[in-house]
Amino acid sequence: MELDQHAEELASALGVDKEEVKSDLQNLLQYSVPLDEAKQSVRRKHGGGSSGGSDGAPATKRIVDIDPDGGNVSVTVRVLTVGTRSIVYQGDEQTIREGELADESGVISYTAWQDFGFEPGDSVVIGNAGVREWDGKPELNIGASSTVGVESETVETPYDDRIGGEADLIDLQAGDRGRTVEVRVLEVDSRTIDGRNGETTILSGVVADETGRLPFTDWAPRPDVEEGASLRLSDVYVREFRGVPQVNLSEFTTLDVLDDPVSVTDSAPRLKIGEAVDAGGMFDVELLGNVLEVRDGSGLIERCPKCSRVVQNGQCRQHGEVDGEDDMRVKAILDDGTGTVTAILDRDLTEEIYGGTMADAMEAAREAMDKEVVADDIADTLVGREYRVRGNLSVDEYGANLETDEFEETDDDPAERAAALLTEVRA
Ligand SMILES: [Zn+2]
Repeated sequence: MELDQHAEELASALGVDKEEVKSDLQNLLQYSVPLDEAKQSVRRKHGGGSSGGSDGAPATKRIVDIDPDGGNVSVTVRVLTVGTRSIVYQGDEQTIREGELADESGVISYTAWQDFGFEPGDSVVIGNAGVREWDGKPELNIGASSTVGVESETVETPYDDRIGGEADLIDLQAGDRGRTVEVRVLEVDSRTIDGRNGETTILSGVVADETGRLPFTDWAPRPDVEEGASLRLSDVYVREFRGVPQVNLSEFTTLDVLDDPVSVTDSAPRLKIGEAVDAGGMFDVELLGNVLEVRDGSGLIERCPKCSRVVQNGQCRQHGEVDGEDDMRVKAILDDGTGTVTAILDRDLTEEIYGGTMADAMEAAREAMDKEVVADDIADTLVGREYRVRGNLSVDEYGANLETDEFEETDDDPAERAAALLTEVRA
């Protein structure tokens, strides 16, 4: 039977225009959808499959009405993003596509288990997609029993600006896929890890644009990813790493070296401590607060030579009895009335605050026959004063910790402020 005849038969069964049915069928066949499935899909599109639902055909739904418990669905949508990723599924390496779809009612994430050929900006009819819940939200699962056909009319959606996934770093969130960013590489290191297929080399570092800075990992190292390079990265995905979003380049990410350097920000966004903690962690943030306390484990410490963990009484949690290496750090609890964080300062910053080198600190400890004199000295300097701190905030089961890059006393003197307050009270 010719396509013409199929179209005629279908059109009369559905009571719709034959040319429309024919063009729908042609579109589906163009994506190598088998004829029977194509006919079913067209039938569903024109409401032929949903009558009574007794034939089990999935209901055509608007995105906003999709419910994880409602069974399979058919949708007519605009493709916003297409990310490609290789995963291991039931022992096999498999290439999947994932991203976002939109219609006039909303946006939904999807995973496609084969290449249906659609691209960002395409309008498509997806038939018989599974619905699963992910992170409390419904997601479409487009598999072997699903159909994807071209929709001849552009699907209207208020989310057009998200087509192609162009994003500023500040807007990236864990779970984002198929994003495109233009960034400058600020730092890059290569290291060897135990990967899925044995030892493999990856690149990691920091990228920046005008809105912020984020850590990145390139799982398929490219020579163009070098310090100072300005790059357009298409099809990156975002995962959370130690409480902050991380940009990931996969083997499918495409890279263009930009002639014009990407301008980058020097400053970090300043937030209230409560806001920053509620955000669940932030890479490069500025906070302002009073030091309430210098915590145990500050001043002179010893680290395990194998794993760098802090050694307690000559014992590493992982490696047992070890010959610890000397180091200095500060763990200062900072409070601004909206929340608290522990600012963790490395040896350089700690020496600056202590006002002497580690050798000086060791000497002082020997004289007093007590290491704690160093931490006490640091506490005397810090506690009760207000500081501006900048660094990477992670929030996890160990609490809210700021890996500190900058630590500076604010200009206004708390004693003066207290005096001013007293004057006000007395007046
Ligand atoms: Zn260790």
